[in-house]
Amino acid sequence: MQLFAHPEFDHHETVCFCHDERSGLRALIAVHNTALGKGLGGCRMWPYRSEDEALTDVLRLSRGMTYKAALAGLPQGGGKSVIIGDPRRDKTPELMRAMGRAVDRLNGAYVVAEDSGTSVADMRLMAEVTRHVGGLADDKAQAAGRTGDPSPATAFGVFIGIQAAVKHRYGRDDLRGLRVAVQGVGNVGYRLCRHLHEAGAQLWVTDLHAPAVERCVREFGATAVDMDRIVALEVDVFAPCALGAVLNDASIAQLRAGVVAGAANNQLARPEHDHALMARGILYAPDYCINAGGIIDIHYEGPDYDAAVVEAHLRRIGTTLSAIFERAQAEQRPTGEIADRMAEERFKRA
Ligand code: NAD
Repeated sequence: MQLFAHPEFDHHETVCFCHDERSGLRALIAVHNTALGKGLGGCRMWPYRSEDEALTDVLRLSRGMTYKAALAGLPQGGGKSVIIGDPRRDKTPELMRAMGRAVDRLNGAYVVAEDSGTSVADMRLMAEVTRHVGGLADDKAQAAGRTGDPSPATAFGVFIGIQAAVKHRYGRDDLRGLRVAVQGVGNVGYRLCRHLHEAGAQLWVTDLHAPAVERCVREFGATAVDMDRIVALEVDVFAPCALGAVLNDASIAQLRAGVVAGAANNQLARPEHDHALMARGILYAPDYCINAGGIIDIHYEGPDYDAAVVEAHLRRIGTTLSAIFERAQAEQRPTGEIADRMAEERFKRA
C-alpha cells in the first residue's frame, strides 16, 4: 500500500489508521484540507474487501468534502472516515464509542457526521466521548423542525438547483409543466418529488424498491417507469438521486433531457464525461454543488439554529450554480471543471 504516491492522495494533510482492540474497530480518518476550517465529513461503515479499497474510498471522499464545503461557502475544510465492517453485523455501541475516541484524538481537525452505514444514533454514541461530532439535532433544532437527517435540506437544495438550471438552459422562471425524470425516490428523491410536484412539474420516477415508486405515484401523480428506461425518457430534466457513475458513455448517448441535476454523489463515471455532456448540449449541475444542502444544514446546528438562516443559505446553491453555468458558457468549458476551479480558488486562496 502506497500513501504519498497513492493516485488519490492529493496533498492530504492527515491520514490515520485507527484501531481498538476491545471493540475490534478498524477505521481510517482522512483530513484533506483545513484552510477554510475544520475537516467535516461523514463516517461511512462498509465491508471493504481490502484496506487498499478503504484507503482509496476515504481519500477520494475527504478530498470531495473540501471542494463541496468551499463551493457551499462554508468556513469548513474536508475530511472523511471509514469503518471497515458490515453495519448490520459488526456495529456495536462500543465500536461507535471507540470511533468517537479516535476522532477525539485529532483535536477537532476532523468533525464526524453520519454517512452510509451510520446514523444519528451512532453520532450520539460518539458524542459521549468527543465534542467533534456534527449531524446531531439538539432540542432547539428539533423544535425548528430539524431531526438530524440531512435529507430534507439536501432535497430542498437540489430543488433550488433545478430552478437555476432550468432558468439557464430554458430561460424559464417557473417549473409549471416541466417534465422531470427522477432516478431513485429514497430519502432525498422522494422529498425532491414533493417540491417539484408543488411547483407544478410533471414527474416520472423509478426505484429498485417498488413501494417507494408507488408512494410517488399516489401522492404526486408521478408516472412509474422501469429502471432501465428512466435515462432515455423524453423529459426536460433528468435528476439522478440513487447511485454514482450514472453519467457514462452509454447513458450520455441515450439522454434526451437538456439538464442533468440531481442529488447522487459522483455522478460522472470519469472526469471526461463532463466534456461529453457539454458536447451534447446537456447542462450538468455539478453533483457536489447541487447536493450540498445536507452539510449546509449541519453547519448551522446547535443552540442558535435558525431555519430561516439555513433556508437563505440553501437558496445560495442556486446563485452558485448560476455563476458556474455563466462562467462555463463564457469560457466554453464544462461545468464540472469550472466548479472545481471555483472551489480551488476559494480554499487555495485561504
Ligand atoms: P436512499 O438510500 O434513501 O435512496 C436511494 C434510492 O435509490 C433507494 O430508494 C434505492 O432503492 C434506489 N436505488 C438504488 N439503486 C437504484 C437503481 N439502479 N435505479 C433506481 N433506483 C435505485 O439515499 P438518499 O439519502 O436519498 O441519497 C440519494 C443519493 O444522494 C445518494 O447518491 C447519496 O449519496 C446522495 N446524497 C444524499 C444526501 C443526503 O442528505 N441524504 C446528501 C448528499 C448526497
